[in-house]
Amino acid sequence: MRKILFASSEVHPLMKTGGLADVSASLPYALSQHGQDVRVFMPAYRQCLKKLENIERVAALKLDGYHESVDILEATLPGTDVVVWLLGSSHHFDRDGGPYSQPDGEDWEDNAARFALFCRAIVALSVNEAGLDWQPDVLHCNDWQTGLAPALLSDRAERPDTIFTIHNMAYQGLFGRDVFDSLDLPESLWSIDGLEFYGLMSFMKAGLIFSDHITTVSPSYAREICDIEYGYGLEGLLRQRAESGHLTGILNGIDYDEWNPATDTHIETHYSAKTPNRKKKNKRLLQQQSYLPISEDTLLIGLISRLVSQKGVDLSIAAVAQLLEEGQNIQLICLGSGEEQYEHSLRVLRARFPDKVALTIGYNETLSHQIEAGVDVFLMPSRFEPCGLNQMYSLRYGTLPIVRNTGGLADTVVDATEENRKAEIANGFCFTEASPEALILSLRRAIALFQHPRKWRKMMITAMTHDFSWENSATLYIDLYHHIKER
Ligand code: ADP
Repeated sequence: MRKILFASSEVHPLMKTGGLADVSASLPYALSQHGQDVRVFMPAYRQCLKKLENIERVAALKLDGYHESVDILEATLPGTDVVVWLLGSSHHFDRDGGPYSQPDGEDWEDNAARFALFCRAIVALSVNEAGLDWQPDVLHCNDWQTGLAPALLSDRAERPDTIFTIHNMAYQGLFGRDVFDSLDLPESLWSIDGLEFYGLMSFMKAGLIFSDHITTVSPSYAREICDIEYGYGLEGLLRQRAESGHLTGILNGIDYDEWNPATDTHIETHYSAKTPNRKKKNKRLLQQQSYLPISEDTLLIGLISRLVSQKGVDLSIAAVAQLLEEGQNIQLICLGSGEEQYEHSLRVLRARFPDKVALTIGYNETLSHQIEAGVDVFLMPSRFEPCGLNQMYSLRYGTLPIVRNTGGLADTVVDATEENRKAEIANGFCFTEASPEALILSLRRAIALFQHPRKWRKMMITAMTHDFSWENSATLYIDLYHHIKER
């Protein structure tokens, strides 16, 4: 058994902006089910404190760079017995809004100070200086918000092994030299072999340089980020670390309790790979709820996403618009929020085709489950996708994903070519070029195959029976923790 401190800036259901939160809840739970002593550590945002019962203040400590003392609060992750520690500092975290941005969408101005404080607290916990009488063997950091911790630990003799997991290279925590100065960090960290990145300070680079091992969330993405196209200027460093055996891709799993069509409390009709036809009832209800004409033979397309360029939302809108103009028998149900330009384009699409397009702008957990259970295909034409969870939720719900061949999408979706269908491994539709035309071709293939219910059902069953649980991936992480120790 190892003691693992798992540090993350978002953990479902306490705070979530994306897949990082899902992973930060389900991986620690899976590790604890495998007998590891894992403690999750995150900031005590206002929203978390509202959601947690039985919070106890277990320590107070003073951290460099901030004049007041901060608290360590303890609770358990809802629905589990996994201990979660939260960094309580009302000045930094007790506010309305998201973890990184204000209610109006602008980044918090003091993000560097907020997450530097978080990193300093991670360090204190890592070397058992927080008054908790618990010394981890492994510190598992996630994304830029935790990147300074391995750097600050690097010269501490009694430090744990450190792993840094990249969930998305697009967000790096870049700040100016003046911010570096304001954080009161060791001057030695300002170097090309440290945090400096083209005249800026990079939290992400700190994690990549100073951790003992780097992982990312799919094998394909681990290869892609070593290329200029996906590495955001850090590809050289990543290539070096990959060549010396310090970068691995481990595919995320999904929470099989939360995302299970046989037990999902958000959906009306439960079904499984043995009863795939029952899914139709959810489709009917979803069409009804969304004020779309009820029609079994219409290909119902789902889209749940942060509305940002990464997700290829513009490709989805252009492709669906083209097919609707042609009079194809399709409907679109979309749930998401994000950049104004995409929200606007989706509103325009709905206004043009009110009986074909349903749209909810916002974040809605229940509706996201109902969409996964009700639609026939799921659109995910991402320009890049470190792992992607929604396509795996779709597969589990017998909803065939239509994806671009990149990152975790390429590692989980097998294209419906005739050969793959014969071999009973096809579970969705893939295309390569990031263009509406390429997506339209895949959508046309889906529309055509949907006319053959038996072939379609076969693919649904292939999708639903593939194992995307955390079982395998948790074992790979445990092997890695072990391997680093030996090294
Ligand atoms: P990313 O982390 O890049 O946003 P992922 O596919 O890895 O993409 O994870 C996205 C997660 O956020 C999924 O759990 C998805 O269901 C959820 N999600 C995204 N947008 C919404 C929304 N508007 N309402 C509900 N859930 C959403």
